[in-house]
Amino acid sequence: MTDRSEVLTETFMAEIREKNPGEDLFLQAVEEIARDVITVEKANADYAAAKILARLAEPDRMIQFRITWPDDAGNVQINRGWRVQHSNAVGPYKGGLRFASTVTPSVLKFLGFEQTFKNALTGLNLGGAKGGSDFEPKDHTEREIMRFCHAFMAELQYHIGPSRDIPAGDIGVGTREIGHLFSAWKKHNLDFAGVITGKSLCIGGSQLRVEATGYGLIYFLCAMLDAAGEDVQGKRIVISGMGNVAMHAARKACALGARVVSLSDTSGLLEAPDGMTNAALDWIEARKAMKETISEPPKDLGLKYHPGGTPWGIECDVALPCATQNEVGEGDARAIVAAGCGFLAEGANMPLTSDAQKLVRDSSMRYAPGKIANAGGVAVSGLEMSQNATFRPLSASEVDDTLRDIMVRVHKTVRDEAATDQTRGPGIDYRRAANRAAYRRVAEALLDHGVL
Ligand code: GLU
Repeated sequence: MTDRSEVLTETFMAEIREKNPGEDLFLQAVEEIARDVITVEKANADYAAAKILARLAEPDRMIQFRITWPDDAGNVQINRGWRVQHSNAVGPYKGGLRFASTVTPSVLKFLGFEQTFKNALTGLNLGGAKGGSDFEPKDHTEREIMRFCHAFMAELQYHIGPSRDIPAGDIGVGTREIGHLFSAWKKHNLDFAGVITGKSLCIGGSQLRVEATGYGLIYFLCAMLDAAGEDVQGKRIVISGMGNVAMHAARKACALGARVVSLSDTSGLLEAPDGMTNAALDWIEARKAMKETISEPPKDLGLKYHPGGTPWGIECDVALPCATQNEVGEGDARAIVAAGCGFLAEGANMPLTSDAQKLVRDSSMRYAPGKIANAGGVAVSGLEMSQNATFRPLSASEVDDTLRDIMVRVHKTVRDEAATDQTRGPGIDYRRAANRAAYRRVAEALLDHGVL
């Protein structure tokens, strides 16, 4: 970063810090974008006069509500729910719902902010939002989860609609929860419309929505490799996480001939020195479905379990952090660089701490942030919305082809943006280019809307 943009960013951030004390994740996300786009704003008199960045640092609105529901023993349980509607400049508010004990308004504010930029890069008309609750599904029975979802939607329904705000899943919210949430919305509104995405197929969901984020991540990785004159075939890939994104990224990478050498969860690491086989992936999925531990894999699957382990440091060509925010610290990043990794693409949202990011960006590694690399999920949500609006379902191969096209187009948008950046060398600075391209799209939309 040049001295001038350093000074401009510092001045801008001083005000943002004062307005958002203690909101570290949000401040981290705003600062990362401000660093990359502040000179774009200052160089354009219209953007500067419209105060685009300062407006985007303030969500359109944050809604908080109480959720009251009876547990299996008949006791009254109370949780908090939120929806952060960050920006609908480019399209209706769009973004997932996260249910986890760690969810706070500040976490959702950061995720909503990131979502606006990610969604803008898909090229679809999608604004940004995020929501959720401090409800922890792991601690509850299926019946309790259903009752909670119904109670959550009894409140959220006042704030969403098929062209207003369209939630989806995220951590702790999968197809089952989306079904319960949709069913409550349908009941309260006497309507069957595309108000939520990630539905199962028989209630209006899209083919491949479950697979989309993981598959999209691998399509994006292939585009990155291609731009560097390389191929995914035979690449050693380390993946963290064992959720939806990690598992489908692993499946797609294996199908394309890569060697996936790890997956992990909060208990530890499963290492597959010769690469995960479909049998190993089936076993992991079955254990997860039964909520059983993965600590004792059958011998013939070629898996080694390391309690408390992470994949960072295993020799690899590619690293795909697919667990959660800030999972990769500075020491982990150093281990990834030392392990010879050439490409890092984020399946999770902001999995690298600021220090880890700096280290990775200062290395020769090619680094793609989540707002481009994991945009496949929300992109297929966009396809689900159009299928719902037109009553015309797409086949799995139509969705897959469109998803691949979108990821290749996201890569091209970012590559073209990088090519216009005079201050950079010949390589692609994916983070900077993604932030600048997304900012331009949202800024143009805000200018067209005027000041309101
Ligand atoms: N939660 C996903 C994300 O972070 C998907 C959002 C959506 O489909 O609206 O992008």
